[in-house]
Amino acid sequence: MAATKFLLAFAIWRLIVTVGFTVVPVELLRLGIEGQLSVETSHVEKASGDFGMLTREEPMAVMEPGSAEDVARLVEAAYQSAQGFTVSARGHGHSINGQAQARKGVVIEMSSRKRGMRVWKKEMYVDVWGGELWIDVLKATLHYGLAPKSWTDYLYLSVGGTLSNAGISGQTFIHGPQISNVYELDVVTGKGELLTCSEERNTESFHAVLGGLGQFGIITRARIALEPAPHRVRWIRVLYSNFSAFTKDQEFLISLHEKPARERFDYVEGFVIVDEGLINNWRSSFFSPTNPVKIESLKSDEGVLYCLEITRNYQEDDEDTIDQEIERMLEKLDFMPKTVFTTDLPYVDFLDRVHRAEGKMRSKGLWEVPHPWLNLFVPRSRIADFDKGVFKGILGNKTSGPILIYPMNKSRWDQRSSVVTPEEEVFYVVALLRSAVDSQALHLLGHQNRQILSFCHDAGIKVKQYLPHYSTQEEWKDHFGDRWARFSHLKLHHDPRRILASGQRIFKPLT
Ligand code: FAD
Repeated sequence: MAATKFLLAFAIWRLIVTVGFTVVPVELLRLGIEGQLSVETSHVEKASGDFGMLTREEPMAVMEPGSAEDVARLVEAAYQSAQGFTVSARGHGHSINGQAQARKGVVIEMSSRKRGMRVWKKEMYVDVWGGELWIDVLKATLHYGLAPKSWTDYLYLSVGGTLSNAGISGQTFIHGPQISNVYELDVVTGKGELLTCSEERNTESFHAVLGGLGQFGIITRARIALEPAPHRVRWIRVLYSNFSAFTKDQEFLISLHEKPARERFDYVEGFVIVDEGLINNWRSSFFSPTNPVKIESLKSDEGVLYCLEITRNYQEDDEDTIDQEIERMLEKLDFMPKTVFTTDLPYVDFLDRVHRAEGKMRSKGLWEVPHPWLNLFVPRSRIADFDKGVFKGILGNKTSGPILIYPMNKSRWDQRSSVVTPEEEVFYVVALLRSAVDSQALHLLGHQNRQILSFCHDAGIKVKQYLPHYSTQEEWKDHFGDRWARFSHLKLHHDPRRILASGQRIFKPLT
């Protein structure tokens, strides 16, 4: 009895020391968690911002969970609390517009602690904690000669963060987005219930959470599909001055998605070169210094070039045949003569390519700056209009960062997930990944983003935002279209007090 009293007193003392003198709801002090709850300035500061550096919202406290039960206890406390408070999972904080922030609520730092992963070699899947970074998932699975199938371009993102959006890259046309490559999830709902869901169990919740912008639950575990990991990658870039030749080839390449691996590429992306293009662009270091190219020397009628980026994965045993296979594939494409740039590297180095560019950007002070990014899904039937109006119009000759463009096929996306894509079978992602080095640039780029959205609206180009950001519920309703009723019904069911992921600004919390 005395020992129990002592332990209880010690637990309360520990919480008070950690939480300090900030006024927090009494429910938080009684949580009894394995992890840590903190109001230390450094923790609160970190949880108040994100990669976008466009908005800041201070939470009242930050939790580093020790387990899924900790997450459940916190959310249940918020749900039961008389006054209520919001709770947001934060993966690696790589959102642009404060999506993982929780004003005066609690931010759960999901990536704060490393956990073990369980690789099921025979079954070819891996169970990971929701806050795990994809780079660590890759390292753990490579140990078994396996790797996830579908990727993002950058691996320092959390599993829960990308599964709340979609997770896209050049492999999406074959495997679908990352949300199409998940077998099972453990999720903490907005009532604090811990739910296991999959195609067979709690099916509606499973599909709702995938691409659900964190609205229906906090992912604490994901079971991710694996495949045998290739050893190496042949990475090829070719240039086009003609947009229609460029998109025709991209669409042709993704139409081969069901062909055997030897008859297609494994990754199809592309980017637009409007100005600084190949030189001052963190996606393009590859062209130099071994493959220097003088953009001015390439003729382009309207000052814009397009780069198709493709890869072939291979095992070391295939080295003899790979060149011929690639040659045969390239013969079918209509790029500008003498603009083939090739490099060859280990699979892991290819997947982790953006991180190396990040190092260079950081050393120049160009990484931790505001990022007014705009990501759009554009229907195939209007991509040429988008090219004329945006790449050759609104952007002028300054883009301030890479502009990615590549097509995807809707049939590879599970329509039961919460993500919204255009109506057509083929649609493009256009990602304007810009950095603002000063306030003038930030103002200009923000203005350009609004111009692009207005242009699409006025021209009747039915784009959908990826990593969407809106200020009013009317805009959200418009984004979801006829899926809004289902989305808001599922919200009511999973998170009736609307306490989860309030930083998305879709529903006003009832607190
Ligand atoms: P956070 O920003 O921390 O969170 C994002 C949202 O998800 C928030 O609403 C948060 O509350 C919610 N959330 C976080 N964890 C969980 C969880 N465990 N359960 C439920 N909800 C959760 N995206 C692509 O698809 N493809 C790319 O190639 C790509 N490249 C990128 C490159 C860079 C340099 C950056 C900065 C971003 C890139 N993104 C890309 C976007 C990225 O997928 C999103 O920003 C994603 O949200 C970031 O993940 P995060 O772990 O940092 O999430």
